[in-house]
Amino acid sequence: MLEFQTLKDNIESIQNRIAHAAQKAGRAPEEILLVAVTKTVDADTINQAVELGIKHLGENRVQEIQSKYPLVKSGSEIKWHLIGHLQTNKVKYIIDKVHMIHSVDSYKLAVEINNRAKKIDRIMDILVQVNISGEESKYGIRKDECYELMNNISKLSNLKVKGLMTIAPLVQDPEEARPYFRDLKKLSIDIMEKSYDNISMDYLSMGMTGDFEVAIEEGANIVRIGTAIFGHRQYGKSN
Ligand SMILES: *Cc1c(COP(=O)(O)O)cnc(C)c1O
Repeated sequence: MLEFQTLKDNIESIQNRIAHAAQKAGRAPEEILLVAVTKTVDADTINQAVELGIKHLGENRVQEIQSKYPLVKSGSEIKWHLIGHLQTNKVKYIIDKVHMIHSVDSYKLAVEINNRAKKIDRIMDILVQVNISGEESKYGIRKDECYELMNNISKLSNLKVKGLMTIAPLVQDPEEARPYFRDLKKLSIDIMEKSYDNISMDYLSMGMTGDFEVAIEEGANIVRIGTAIFGHRQYGKSN
């Protein structure tokens, strides 16, 4: 387990870097939401992070949310975000647990989330995941498929699209990721201008440990950070 002091230092350092990047971009630090990515992190460490002020937790696997959810101090201020690929048949396990789903990339998945949300009488906030780089290995819909998906989703009553999410290509120099972030921002403006019912572009979820400062400069207001907070760990399939 991570030393409490190390965790504290890591969190403070990230908060400072976020604030600095925001200021550099002429934005207020409070505009940026930090989602601490807790995949493979044990519940005790997550609870320590919560004690240190972390409120938003990001997981990329349904199974991990299910197993940790009961172990992490609840209280209404803790919000779970599903940030990884979601299979339709697993929506039912997380529909009552997560605050936002970042990884909606098909109409079929949106319909299932809508149906499950309706059953428990809630409206689920979602982001549409866009494969902005077009890499074959990545989940997410293509840019040109976005408009049709938005149009279809806008008719679902128990879903609210709140913005877009992307994962930039893994690059050595974060500057190389800048065009992808800029592209997603541009796409969000295009979508906003179409004024679909039920769809807002309040959030751009982009930026991870290696590239979040550039992402913030390009308009991110949700950053998803794991490694810089919890250290290196083994990841499964990247998405
Ligand atoms: C793991 C993961 C992150 C965090 O990545 P780090 O490089 O560890 O900060 C962000 N988003 C998604 C979708 C992830 O799976």
